[in-house]
Amino acid sequence: HSKEVAGGSYYFYDEKIGKRTIESVKYENALYRALERDEFTLYYQPQVDLCKHRMVGVEALIRWNHPEEGLVSPDIFIPLAEQTGLIVPIGEWVLREAVSQLKKWHDKGFDDLCMAVNLSAAQFEQGSLHRIVKQVLAETGIRPELLHLELTENQIMRNTDLAISTMNKLKELGVHLDIDDFGTGYSSLGYLQRFPLTTLKIDRTFIRDILLDEDDRALTDTIITMAKNMGLEVIAEGVETEEQADYLASRECTMMQGYFFSPPVPARKLEKDFLTNDQGGWSR
Ligand code: C2E
Ligand code: MG
Ligand code: MG
Ligand code: MG
Repeated sequence: HSKEVAGGSYYFYDEKIGKRTIESVKYENALYRALERDEFTLYYQPQVDLCKHRMVGVEALIRWNHPEEGLVSPDIFIPLAEQTGLIVPIGEWVLREAVSQLKKWHDKGFDDLCMAVNLSAAQFEQGSLHRIVKQVLAETGIRPELLHLELTENQIMRNTDLAISTMNKLKELGVHLDIDDFGTGYSSLGYLQRFPLTTLKIDRTFIRDILLDEDDRALTDTIITMAKNMGLEVIAEGVETEEQADYLASRECTMMQGYFFSPPVPARKLEKDFLTNDQGGWSR
């Protein structure tokens, strides 16, 4: 919508953004107390490797159980947590919770399962991240290469020199560094090579129309080829149909994540559906 204002100029009111701002204000106070009130929980979404015919890892995705509103989406409260700085303690909680859950699953015998954790730039730019990651690994005895830290292109481009030095330090610990939502950001290929990355996660907006839209298909093919040439792993996000999975597999992208396999679920449901002794796989 556009609206005429005095002086003949226009301003635009984006209903979506307007709504989000109102919601943000509504949630801000509650968010400050959410950690101490233990209102956060983690859901886990399987990452499967079609080559291995099984789940190889999970991505931890935060959920906020608001006392009055019920589950609030991270798309609403993560930006707010970033603006207020609350993302630093929340992010530390996520890291500790996710790795201790991974430890429980390893102890049950699923000892090569990986865990991917999302990080925000503010956490990344804090000197304490390296210490926390190191401590969490030491406390649990988790093999560092089973921990994947996810960052978006835009987050690492915010302060590239700092990002490169933090990533190099994390890489020395042995953890993996994955680029989330790849293809939607502003990083250039030249820059990418300077980061000690392990994995590109193809954004789900390219996967969505992969069978309908030639451009999305070309882009996806290019990302897969590029990853291979750079010696990186590639995961497709947002795989919702068998046809999408088949197409990706035909392009030799066999690592996938999406509703076709499973939505994010609570730990107990993941155990019930995916971590049984007969290793039921995903196509139950
Ligand atoms: P993301 O890291 O790119 O996570 C993938 C999002 O796509 C998740 O949304 C997931 O539920 C959704 N998704 C998975 N498969 C499909 C599919 O097949 N189709 C569709 N349409 N969607 C799918 P979710 O859980 O709402 O999280 C949204 C975003 O919030 C995440 O995007 C991430 O950027 C952020 N986030 C979530 N948890 C954390 C966290 O612990 N820390 C930080 N910093 N950010 C987080
Ligand atoms: Mg992610
Ligand atoms: Mg993503
Ligand atoms: Mg995202």
